[in-house]
Amino acid sequence: MMQRRFWHALLNACFPARCVSCGQQARNGAWCHACFAALPRIEKGCARCATPLPPSASAWCGACLHRAPPFDATIAACRYTFPLDQLLQDFKYGRRLSLAAPLAQLMTDVCRQSLAAFQEPPTHVVAMPLSAKRQIERGFNQAQELALPVASALKLPLLTDTLRRIKDAPKQATLPWRERHKNVRGAFACHRNLSGHRILLIDDVMTTGTTAAEAAKTLRKAGAENVFIGVLARASTAQETGVP
Ligand SMILES: [Zn+2]
Ligand SMILES: [Zn+2]
Repeated sequence: MMQRRFWHALLNACFPARCVSCGQQARNGAWCHACFAALPRIEKGCARCATPLPPSASAWCGACLHRAPPFDATIAACRYTFPLDQLLQDFKYGRRLSLAAPLAQLMTDVCRQSLAAFQEPPTHVVAMPLSAKRQIERGFNQAQELALPVASALKLPLLTDTLRRIKDAPKQATLPWRERHKNVRGAFACHRNLSGHRILLIDDVMTTGTTAAEAAKTLRKAGAENVFIGVLARASTAQETGVP
């Protein structure tokens, strides 16, 4: 153990870690001080869907007040803007898998803070699944890569092969948002009995909220008592919450 620590310290001294955003020497986990301080945190987000709100707004956004989504709360680490949008693109499409650990750390920190206030915190973690076809194309599921370290840090069991994506929908972003609801309907299946489970469903980014809503519905149908969504990044366009 001592030996491993020594080599680790020596490696760090010879090859100091680089900030994942700007490449300067990292000083705050995976970031340099400046990039860490500039991360686009959500100062105030809707308690249900995490869409960023002005400081004076009520706890829920207009869309959630109008119709509450089928998930109980959303925890989002940052806004889906620079540098998170680029980092997530690199992670997912550029296969920069070394980003999984620092991005998961960011999620873990925010989850810990938020969950401390929950009276009935989650009991299990589930990763947002990809369809089998897309998983084969990409070679990995980014949500699973984030969920593994988050679940382990939060000391919660990660339920794999629980939620399955059975319908591969066209990319949500290419559709008008009213169409997105139809597009994801029936996209998930869950054959496990989740009675008594409170699920933290992890995804990398929430854009419209429709995919998370459909997945949450499926988990509830399988018996889950509560479904909380945990995402690294939340798109900030109010009309894109997709939770009308
Ligand atoms: Zn930096
Ligand atoms: Zn909301």
